[in-house]
Order: sequence, then structure tokens, then C-alpha cells
Amino acid sequence: MSVIKKVRTRYAPSPTGFMHVGNLRTALYEYLIAKSQGGTFVLRIEDTDRERYVDGAVDVIYSTLKRAGLVHDEGPDIGGEYGPYVQSERLGMYLPYAEKLIESGHAYRCFCSKERLEKLAESSEFGGYDRHCRDLSDEEIKKNLDAGTPYVIRQKMPLEGRTTFTDAVFGEISVDNSELQDQILIKTDGFPTYNFANVIDDHTMGITHVVRGSEYLSSTPKYNLLYDAFGWEIPTYVHLPLIMGKNEDGSVSKLSKRHGSTGFEDLVAEGYLPEAIINYIALLGWCPKDNQELFTMKELEENFFIEGISKSPAVFDYDKLSWFNSEYIKAMTEEEFTEYATPYYREIIDESSPIDINKFAPILQKRTEKFSDIPDKLRFFTQLADYDTDLFINKKSKSTLETAKTCLAAATERLEALSDWNADAIHDCLINLAQEMELKNGTVMWPVRIAASGQTVTAGGAIEILDILGREEALRRLKIGISKLN
Ligand code: GLU
Repeated sequence: MSVIKKVRTRYAPSPTGFMHVGNLRTALYEYLIAKSQGGTFVLRIEDTDRERYVDGAVDVIYSTLKRAGLVHDEGPDIGGEYGPYVQSERLGMYLPYAEKLIESGHAYRCFCSKERLEKLAESSEFGGYDRHCRDLSDEEIKKNLDAGTPYVIRQKMPLEGRTTFTDAVFGEISVDNSELQDQILIKTDGFPTYNFANVIDDHTMGITHVVRGSEYLSSTPKYNLLYDAFGWEIPTYVHLPLIMGKNEDGSVSKLSKRHGSTGFEDLVAEGYLPEAIINYIALLGWCPKDNQELFTMKELEENFFIEGISKSPAVFDYDKLSWFNSEYIKAMTEEEFTEYATPYYREIIDESSPIDINKFAPILQKRTEKFSDIPDKLRFFTQLADYDTDLFINKKSKSTLETAKTCLAAATERLEALSDWNADAIHDCLINLAQEMELKNGTVMWPVRIAASGQTVTAGGAIEILDILGREEALRRLKIGISKLN
């Protein structure tokens, strides 16, 4: 009977800046593979590439995972039995493993100078490192070591045969060993390369499923040869396809800034809710068993399965993301909506304004796709733009310049006489007026809304707008409308 190992996945970002949606999807799938099988989700920071290191990027990783609801079970900040979880704190452990490989004949010291390698790279038939140091005699090696010649440790690739493995998404992958370069495992400074460290770390952390971008697919045979050399069990590989963006001409190419925001924080700043982003990204390359689209994180944890991951590149569709966002916005309580929307209200309606921002939720919530659209939608409340009297003409509402003129004058007179200024009072006043004038409600409402807002498409109808504007400003605008029509 084989022992079923507890699933352990890891998210291993390099702190190189903001979190691209592709990285977030990797983290999400790692998390879901672990959680759907009662496993453990580990966070490991891969910070050994000091040239690519960006200050503050580690904080972005923490804050993104937190906001996205991806809670790790082990990691630098919370520890765990397989620590340390920051690669730069593990530096001492790689060299002994590389030396073991030298002993077993799977690696060798390479003393080639930088100059020699540069010259080699410049030569016309350059096909990678020429394996110059692969078969140095013991004496030559000793001579170099005694002389203190700096060296790297390279992996000794088999020269014949094939290496084959099965990826959970891409299926069987097979390469001729002769195509594999004797890659560097340990650099002259004693630091490991990513290519070596990922294997040592994944093994020593007991990782069962390695999830990462398909750009690592071609290197995986090399990693497997390392696992084999150590006699270690190879993890299950789950390589994820690229995320593409739609170009203006209809073609697609790798998702980049010219398609729109590609960072989690940027999308949040644009007004997409973290839950909506996560829900959308979960489906960006994974297909559930039925056609369900809206998933809470808990539902994703219960329903995710590796076989549902597709190997064809997914296209990031901002319209679809907006649809998800609007669904999540609709599902908010009015209080939640107001709380989230307030910074966007405040972009145009400052604290000193008499406008009660709590009145916006009922007119905005059902129509908001993303919060950053809100300021534009509310602009007319603070500034009445100059508008053309043609706006008063509307066929459907049976509004002409003549009806608009009479209705607006009558409505203004009635509204001025109201003792209470609130939505109910305004509603009753205008509806009664339409009845008395034997006109459609729309024939009265249309010109009132145009005069109150100066535009034909508005958040909210005439009644809500008048109520929010307040008596004084509302009447001032209606009178401007009357004078325009005169
Ligand atoms: N640090 C690597 C990256 O950010 C991780 C790749 C992997 O998951 O092994 O691309």
C-alpha cells in the first residue's frame, strides 16, 4: 500500500516589484490545490537574485496575499517546521548538496574564467558552455583549487538518452538529454542559482505539487535529473499557460501594461474588488465541473481540481472582470457600498459640501461596474455644465421645447412651495403635477432632470437628483433651465 502524502504546495515569488495577475493566479492555484485536498500552503521568498531585488516588494507580496484572502500556513512571517522560508537565510545549505553531486558524478567544478566564457559566447557557432572543465583530471582540479581559482559548480548532464516526465496540465514532455546545457548550480560567490535552489528547497520543504508558469516547463527535465541524482521523489508538476491580452486589432499577445492594469494593487486602485479579481482569476485557465461562475473563496476551496486547468493560454478580458465586479458590488450591503465608494465620492464632493453622500448608494450601486467610474458619474452634482436646449427634446417622454417650457415652469413653482424637501415630497409633487396637466409622468420628469443635471444620461432620475442637490441648488438649476428655454 502506498502512503498518501499530505499535499504541500508553495508560492515562491521573487521580490521584484508589483504582483502581476499571472503571479497572483499561480499563488491562487497553489493555495486551492492545497486547500481542496486538506493540504498546506507555504510561502517562500526567493530573494537570492540581488540584481532584481526591489525594496518594498516583500511587503507587496504580504499585503497582496492578505487582501486576496490567500492565507499561508507556513512562511517567513509565521514560521513553520521547514524554515527558514527566505532563500537568503538558507544560503548555507546549498553548497553541501552540490558537493554531494560532485562526489556522485552528477556535477563538476568549472574554473573557466569570465574572459574565456565571454569569448566563447561571441564565437559564431556558440551553442552554450562547451563543457571544457567537465573532464578535468584530479591533478588539474587540485592545481586550480590550490591556486584559489574561482569556480562555479555545473550540473553534468547525461549526453545520451531522453528525460521524460508528465506534467499535470501539459501532459508528457520529453527531451533529448543531449540538448540540455551543463547549467550552473552554484555561482563563484557560493550562492545557488534559481535552477538549483528551487530543487533543494522544494525537496527539503516536502513540497508535493510545484505550480508555476509554463516558462519553466523546458527547464523541468534538468530539475528532474537533479531529483534523480539525489534519489529524491519528483513532485507533481502543474505548469500554467500564459495569460494573454486582447490587442486592438483583435489579435492576442502576452498580457502587458498596454492592455490595461496588470498588477493586483493597480486593479484594486482602479476600483475592482479583491473578491471579484480572485473570482475572475480563478476561472482564467480553470473550468469548474458545471457552468457556475460566481465563487466565494470557500466554494473555490471546495471545488477546485487540477484536471480542470487548461493548457491553452487564457485571455484576460477586462469586460468580463467588470461583470464579475458589478455582481460583487450588487451583492454588497448599502453600508458596505458607501464605505468602499466614499474615497471615490470624495474625489469630487468635498467634506464641506452640503450633499449627503449616503444618498448615492441607491442610485449607483446597481449601475457601478468599477468604483473608479463613480467620480465621472457624479460630476454633474458639483458642476452644472453649459448644455444645449435640444437636450429637452425627447421622443419617448413626449417632451418638446414647448412642453419642456411649460412643465419646467409649473414644476419649479410647485417645488418652490414645498415645505419639506425630500424624495417622497418631490415625487408626490411632480406626479400630481403630471396628472393635473394630463401628461405622461415622463413629459414632466424629462425636462426637470435635464435642467437639474445638464445631461441626458444620469445616475438617478429627476427625483433623486433634486433631493440630493438640495432645495436651493435644485431650484437655481431649474430656473437656469427656464431661462434657457425662454
Ligand atoms: N521565484 C520564481 C519566480 O518568481 C519562482 C518560480 C517557481 O515557482 O519555482 O518566478
